[in-house]
Amino acid sequence: PRQFFVGGNFKMNPVSQEQKRALVKALNEADIDPSVEVVIAPPSIYLLPLKDLLRKEIKVSAQNCYFKANGAFTGEISPAQLVDAEIPYVILGHSERRTLFHETSELVAQKTKSALEAGLSVILCVGETLEERESGKTAQVVEAQLKPVVAAVSEQDWAKIVVAYEPVWAIGTGKVATSAQAQQAHADTRKFLAQAVSSAVAENTRIIYGGSVTAANCKELSTQPDVDGFLVGGASLKPEFVQIINSKR
Ligand code: 13P
Repeated sequence: PRQFFVGGNFKMNPVSQEQKRALVKALNEADIDPSVEVVIAPPSIYLLPLKDLLRKEIKVSAQNCYFKANGAFTGEISPAQLVDAEIPYVILGHSERRTLFHETSELVAQKTKSALEAGLSVILCVGETLEERESGKTAQVVEAQLKPVVAAVSEQDWAKIVVAYEPVWAIGTGKVATSAQAQQAHADTRKFLAQAVSSAVAENTRIIYGGSVTAANCKELSTQPDVDGFLVGGASLKPEFVQIINSKR
């Protein structure tokens, strides 16, 4: 059985120490289902403070990293630095990075490989645009995003990868995928992993859904057999995040 996983992607929030303290307090005081893996991804400036302030059951994740270990790469953070800071996870390939910062699937694969080699776990984001969905290319797009990763990492590496299916049209739009759309994309992704890597990897890899997840829609999505959790943006900054964490209760 795959452990249910709920990630909070804070993106470029919060914007003040006061907000940060309020988020920490809310999470530390919440009644959280202990069977769920909970990972918070704040901006890098908050990684270390949040790691220290949050209760131990809640892990922290970076939102990005570079693939080099160190050197003249102004503005970047390396996997080795995250490992040294005892940050266990990194999000890679988020659609905002792909779109706004021009990250290709090849670069995402290179980053994934080097993050895994350094000892990080990776939340690997994939997903199609509205145009791609409407032209029936969803599975094809997700496969094309995963293929360079499959080529770059070993079968054992998949134990440290969580795949986040995040349709671009659902991110920050309030237009959540229906549970049938999410289930279909997750099942297709799992089928691809079975064929491209192995049936064991397909069976064991968590595939989580992201895109306008709220307390109101999480329960139905969470009942889908191939939905193993969520990656939450906007709602992870709100009290309802706790209800999303507990959606299986
Ligand atoms: P929203 O939940 O704000 O749509 O963002 C989803 C997301 O991008 C998580 O990585």
